[in-house]
Amino acid sequence: MTKGNRRKDSSANINFSKKSRGRKRRKRLNMKKILLLLLIVVTIGGCAKIALAYRHEQEIARIETENKEKLKKLLENNQDSQKVVGQKKEFKEKVGVDAQKVWNALNAYDYDNGGKKEVFLTFDDGPSTTNTPKVLEILKNNGVKGTFFVIGRSLRMDGAPEILKQIYEEGHAIGNHSYSHDYSYLYPSRVLNMNNFLEDFNKNSELINKSLGMDNFSTRVIRCPGGQLSWKETTPLNEYMIKNNMASIDWNALNGDAEGAKKNADQLYDFAVKSSAGNNLIVLLMHDTYGKEETVKYLDKMIKYYKSNGYEFKTLV
Ligand SMILES: [Zn+2]
Repeated sequence: MTKGNRRKDSSANINFSKKSRGRKRRKRLNMKKILLLLLIVVTIGGCAKIALAYRHEQEIARIETENKEKLKKLLENNQDSQKVVGQKKEFKEKVGVDAQKVWNALNAYDYDNGGKKEVFLTFDDGPSTTNTPKVLEILKNNGVKGTFFVIGRSLRMDGAPEILKQIYEEGHAIGNHSYSHDYSYLYPSRVLNMNNFLEDFNKNSELINKSLGMDNFSTRVIRCPGGQLSWKETTPLNEYMIKNNMASIDWNALNGDAEGAKKNADQLYDFAVKSSAGNNLIVLLMHDTYGKEETVKYLDKMIKYYKSNGYEFKTLV
């Protein structure tokens, strides 16, 4: 072998081992790529699984929350459907009117009630065992409903709770007119005392429920003894009424059965007719408590007067 051939041989060997090392490196590189790819595939798979499980959990939580809310609403609706506010439902739907709207209308300048004639017969200070049953009979015979603003002082009398039940059963509305009806307690020095007022009205509210034997009854309508407009600093009462979705209502007509000299049935009729004149919307103040026998005597004629003049009979709720 010549010197030149030996050089050729050795360079060929070098080339061969270079090629072989290159192949091995490529092989290793490919293996690394495959492993990396596998790792990526496994990682992506794992992540996808985790994401899926997370989404699944979220979905379950969402459904659970939704179901809880549905159940809560269902329970609330059920409780609401069992609540009775002011008047037996079937009658309230027919003749009940939001007392706050009526009061706002009466206080609006030149209110004409859109040509509709409506009268609200209201009876204060009862129920009495002497006159209220007769009032109820007259209302029944005329097929009309009224609103009874009851007081605790009358309700605690023997036999009064039964009459309140009758008022309710026969479809009339019930309003709260305080427990004591005591001006000096409710409005010392003619100024509204909110603490005394609320204590007294809440006490009567409890007595109304006890008398009716219903814990699901409430009334949102109150009438201040003496009328709210007679007293000073009643703004806190207005604020309380708005906040609690309640209404305080006075009247815009009266038969005078608690004012001035005692009147007989004819005089009460004349008084009420005069007082109602020119009004399409009338809230008539009367009393069904003890000593109001003349009111019982005049009532039928009064109802017929409103009927013949085209008035519809409504209740305050
Ligand atoms: Zn009164």
